[in-house]
Amino acid sequence: MRWTVLGCHSPYPAPGGATLGYLLEADQKRILIDCGSGVLAQLAKMMPIHELDAVFLSHLHHDHISDFFVLQYALLVASNQQKRKRPLPVWAPAEPAHWYAKLSYQNLIDKRPIGTESVSIGKLTFSFHRTDHAIPCYAIRISDGKKTILYGADAGPKTDWLAMGRKPDLFVCEATYLHQELPAHPIGHLSAKQAAEAGVALQAKRLLLTHLYPERDPEPLGEEAQAVFPGPCQVSRIGMQIDV
Ligand SMILES: [Zn+2]
Repeated sequence: MRWTVLGCHSPYPAPGGATLGYLLEADQKRILIDCGSGVLAQLAKMMPIHELDAVFLSHLHHDHISDFFVLQYALLVASNQQKRKRPLPVWAPAEPAHWYAKLSYQNLIDKRPIGTESVSIGKLTFSFHRTDHAIPCYAIRISDGKKTILYGADAGPKTDWLAMGRKPDLFVCEATYLHQELPAHPIGHLSAKQAAEAGVALQAKRLLLTHLYPERDPEPLGEEAQAVFPGPCQVSRIGMQIDV
């Protein structure tokens, strides 16, 4: 499986950057995980947008979905040009309902709610686990039968990571704060140190930090996490590819 960072900033992009989005290439499928602001411009460097096989949206906050509405237009154009003849399968939480309703667009989207049941696409299995966040948000565990990627989405410190299965080959976890900056009342996000601690508890083989404040130097985040996490630990940058 190949994991490409298309966007890693939050809550708005850095200059030339993008908020959250990742391309998963595996089993001859190309699947978009989250679709934040600026993600489509990065995706278009990799492939024709209309050739996507599926989309998963971890939750319906704008920094994870804003470009999804522009993706709908790319599908419309491709459909009019006979380049795409089938709806795009999209999985997303059904809440908040007014945002879930907006994910449909003519007959171009085959929309399905994320729930407790796992989803199979070819040899790939996607399973979903609620995180500690302000609205329903799901971590996504992806397996090709041999290796696993755990995408932690947005997740606060009450997230039950161990319910998601141990030893992911790659754990993609948010690092919104340096630990000393954590707000007194956590609001569904983690520090780099907490991300590393979750990685240790999960016995993750590799850690990738994401959900980065665009005006922060990313280096101290990596150093804070690497002081706790014993394995390879990287801070996301757009275009980074990890083969699992
Ligand atoms: Zn969020």
